[in-house]
Amino acid sequence: MRGRGRETGIECMASFRVCVLTLFPGMFPGPLGYSLAGKALAAGIWSLKIVDIRHYARNKYRTVDNAPFGGGSGMVMRADVIDAALCENRDSRLPFVYMTPRGQALTQADAWALARTGGLCILCGRFEGVDQRVIDKHGANELSIGDYILSGGELAALVLLDSIIRLIPGVMKSMESLQEESFSRGLLEYHQYTRPRVWSDRAVPGVLVSGHHKRVEEWRRIQSEIVTRERRPDLWHRYAVCGCDGKRT
Ligand code: SAH
Repeated sequence: MRGRGRETGIECMASFRVCVLTLFPGMFPGPLGYSLAGKALAAGIWSLKIVDIRHYARNKYRTVDNAPFGGGSGMVMRADVIDAALCENRDSRLPFVYMTPRGQALTQADAWALARTGGLCILCGRFEGVDQRVIDKHGANELSIGDYILSGGELAALVLLDSIIRLIPGVMKSMESLQEESFSRGLLEYHQYTRPRVWSDRAVPGVLVSGHHKRVEEWRRIQSEIVTRERRPDLWHRYAVCGCDGKRT
């Protein structure tokens, strides 16, 4: 084991290596220890190194934060502490992501791009955030999971990782289903139905039980377009007017 991180998964074999810097190591792997991601972690398809930022504090009180220069409320995570944690644990060949509401909004295209990298290092902020100098020094990609404020970056990191890990080859049985789901072609997915065929006086759309694959495909495409137009005019505009499938340009 390198550095002072706790490692889960079989690092030498893992095709995808994740390092997370946090003040709350107990929050990991959390939900990622279950289901597909959990099985893949146990199988060594991906590995997780959890680094406790507090280990890199320099004084006897293990302080990791200080008051912001310029005044104002709250505390800011110190650049020197984060830098020491990064220098000892980060693989500089892999992307480095700082979770922050000030970052670019995470998209499915980002998840696909990151899933192809071989791994990443994620910094979870707390308090008012992190001294910008260490973010700049390490060339972080600043990513947000939405326009709201969480109390820390840990849940955001778990969301980011969940979106990436399911795309790593070998995690899902069928990669085909990934091509169909919402956002993969710039549209939301069509409605889904299963047994029973009639439930609570509601029958499933007849075409889905017709056995005509071409007609099912066509129905699903049209449903996708209708649902996207009604629910997400922003996506619809990009798809229909700009001819864009939602990937970052
Ligand atoms: N003062 C900051 C918010 C700090 S919230 C501001 O106004 O922009 C504390 C930490 O939670 C952040 O450093 C970040 O790591 C995390 N966080 C909060 N909301 C987030 C979001 N929407 N996306 C990603 N990370 C978030």
